[in-house]
Amino acid sequence: MKSEIIVVGYGPTAMTTSAILGRQGIATTIVNPFPVYQKMPSATRLLALSLSSVELFKEHGLVKNIKSIGQPIKKIHVSQYKKSGLLEFDPTDIHKENFGYMVDEEELWKSLYSEVKDTSTIDEVHSNIETIDYQNNKIVLKLSNGQNLTADLLIAADGKNSIIRKKLYFEVEKKSYNQIVLICDIKHSKNHQGIAREIFMKKGPFATLPKLGGYSSSVVWTESMASESFLRSLNKPFLQEFIASRCSKELGEIELGSNPSLFPLSSTYSKEAIADGIALVGDAWHAIHPLAGQGLNLGLRDIKALTDLIVKEKSIGLDIGNFQILKKYQRARRDDITILISTIDIINNIYKSKLPIVPEIGQFMIRAVSFCKPLKNLFMIYASGKHI
Ligand SMILES: Cc1cc2nc3c(=O)[nH]c(=O)nc-3n(C[C@H](O)[C@H](O)[C@H](O)COP(=O)(O)OP(=O)(O)OC[C@H]3O[C@@H](n4cnc5c(N)ncnc54)[C@H](O)[C@@H]3O)c2cc1C
Repeated sequence: MKSEIIVVGYGPTAMTTSAILGRQGIATTIVNPFPVYQKMPSATRLLALSLSSVELFKEHGLVKNIKSIGQPIKKIHVSQYKKSGLLEFDPTDIHKENFGYMVDEEELWKSLYSEVKDTSTIDEVHSNIETIDYQNNKIVLKLSNGQNLTADLLIAADGKNSIIRKKLYFEVEKKSYNQIVLICDIKHSKNHQGIAREIFMKKGPFATLPKLGGYSSSVVWTESMASESFLRSLNKPFLQEFIASRCSKELGEIELGSNPSLFPLSSTYSKEAIADGIALVGDAWHAIHPLAGQGLNLGLRDIKALTDLIVKEKSIGLDIGNFQILKKYQRARRDDITILISTIDIINNIYKSKLPIVPEIGQFMIRAVSFCKPLKNLFMIYASGKHI
């Protein structure tokens, strides 16, 4: 079976990549081992989609239902637990109505998948991958169902534990943050007014992210790994009380809206993102700490760079799997990715450090950014997914 491009994966980056390419008339085959629609294992997540991600969808006619599935992020509040000072990010300062949308990952996935299903230039093949080979300058995937797939380019969008990346033996930097994140939904008596709140606690940030409708939010609470058994032991009333102690002033009476899920935090970054005829996108290249809610946004920026390049090079008749062409993609994306990873690590380390000066550094940072409008605007532009 021949196609121009094979996309391996099942998550939001695989669906977005296939939909963008397929809608431009490029014969695309999406490969994953999941034969029927399954609920995504990570579906408890509420994702912050930045403006640049929303623009990418709009440019390609995807996620047309964003307003009915997404809560606009009207403001972002950053503070330190039990300390004075609040850093308020207001999108009107950078002439925007909002910073993007909070979207349930499952709803986003469904919207993207419906576009994939409706695009006649996209085929779906459900099987595991056995080997990757080259034949006559093309990629050949041997699948466990006995099929062989041939294409000019293979895009690996198969997430943090990418099978393709492993088969290529790319060197991966892995970090364990020694932190665990608790995620659950809450219902509250006061309207969240579209404000995403991040409170920096001693062991990590505690965030409430506004959900559609005004009276429910998602809690993302980061703690040290040592607290895992404590977090697991929390019964409903205790957990409710803990959460209320952090946010009842702003959100009123709190009631748990879902059972909590716990995820240990780690990151992976592949030093290489390309090989002859192969490119990694999204978490397959870089799975980052969720502190800034930027992982998928970063992956969508990979997709924008790669799909723009493919369309351009194809239009002048060049081989889209050519290593020199793919190098342009890797070069274009590397700085954005490494800068974000370093920034997140710096912020996380400051707050994880046990030095007594740390709360003062945090206070200083909050005040400095609050009072320095150009610096604040730069943060907001970056959070919107634009390059500074
Ligand atoms: C707690 C938390 C909160 C987050 N919040 C945000 C946020 O607010 N904003 C944001 O932008 N990002 C956020 N992220 C990051 C975001 O969830 C990821 O960056 C995003 O899901 C990556 O998408 P992906 O498609 O690259 O990978 P994945 O979502 O991991 O999808 C990859 C898919 O490939 C499938 N697969 C596995 N094996 C194979 C195979 N052999 N063949 C084919 N397919 C295979 C996997 O099952 C998986 O479904 C958060 C992450 C965490 C952990």
